[in-house]
Amino acid sequence: MTAAPWKSNPGGVSSPVRRTITAVETAVQGTYRQWIEHASKCDECHATGNRCSTAERLWQAYKAAQREVRSL
Ligand SMILES: [Zn+2]
Repeated sequence: MTAAPWKSNPGGVSSPVRRTITAVETAVQGTYRQWIEHASKCDECHATGNRCSTAERLWQAYKAAQREVRSL
């Protein structure tokens, strides 16, 4: 039996930077899922093949979250 490395980490607290990245990655996944879910059930998006105003707002939120990940 070897000791788990993370258990020897004093305090066992992940760094603030790591927590921020995780939060932003969660935001990317969340906004992407919202956009996909909207696109899958929106008649306007289906009919035109374009993003309606709601889809555009969700898409921009997703792109903004993506930019935040890259800037970290
Ligand atoms: Zn739509």
